[in-house]
Amino acid sequence: MRVVHSPLELKKLLKEEQGTIGFVPTMGALHLGHRSLIEAAREANDLVVVSIFVNPTQFLEGEDLDAYPRREEADKKVCELSGVDYLFYPDASEMYGEDEVSLNAPSVRGYIMEGNSRPGHFSGVLTVVNKLFNIVNPTRAYFGKKDAQQLMLIETMVANLFMNVEIVPMATLREKDGLAMSSRNVYLSEQEREEALKIIKSLRTATQMVMKNELHVSRIREEMLAILAPLDVEYVTIVNRSFEPIEHVEIGNTIILVEAISGTTRLLDNIWI
Ligand code: AMP
Repeated sequence: MRVVHSPLELKKLLKEEQGTIGFVPTMGALHLGHRSLIEAAREANDLVVVSIFVNPTQFLEGEDLDAYPRREEADKKVCELSGVDYLFYPDASEMYGEDEVSLNAPSVRGYIMEGNSRPGHFSGVLTVVNKLFNIVNPTRAYFGKKDAQQLMLIETMVANLFMNVEIVPMATLREKDGLAMSSRNVYLSEQEREEALKIIKSLRTATQMVMKNELHVSRIREEMLAILAPLDVEYVTIVNRSFEPIEHVEIGNTIILVEAISGTTRLLDNIWI
């Protein structure tokens, strides 16, 4: 595995390679969720590129940019053992200059839900993903369904800008007790982690309601909010796969999303129905 820090050097090295490129962009502190993306990339492509970059432009003033877990050595080992060919580990100073061109997230779907809690966050995400795609020029790029709104916005960007990359959505990996794996879970105290389990409990209850043919979005939300009560809930939203509001669950075309804060940690989860 080759570790590359310079964007232009990586671009040059990859241009000299033959075959398909599978790309997994991450912010590091790699867990099994990330590994599942890397493994899928390994299976379907000739080359695998992973990036680790804690992108400053997607953090808002006062968020956890400085505290975000950084595990350089452990992450390198994970990548090496997972058969990664190139690990891209850029410095913020090489990724951004001054007075830059940047992308704006769509004004509706980029500013609802997490985009409402964190205005401008998705513009930062799309800008960096665009830069990363231009550096790596991947055949396929792998993103987790756990960040469903991010995935939808990246798919939208690829379609709107006629980009030549296939986006591959990947299932959410969970801890044994159901908590969605996340690099931010290390922030949780034992009690906060226990409380965080209300999120998966609420999503499982929603699934059971749908299985019993309760399709009214308002009733499902009500039930979920009652379960989530101990947490600081940012939103519980039920939308179709285009992220439009719906009144009734449409089987095969619905996502139920939760964002809640346990202690000071923002947690996202969802189920696709
Ligand atoms: P992050 O490092 O948090 O930016 O995540 C990098 C990629 O891994 C994103 O596409 C995430 O959606 C994905 N990811 C994060 N957590 C999980 C998980 N528990 N299961 C599957 N994919 C995940």
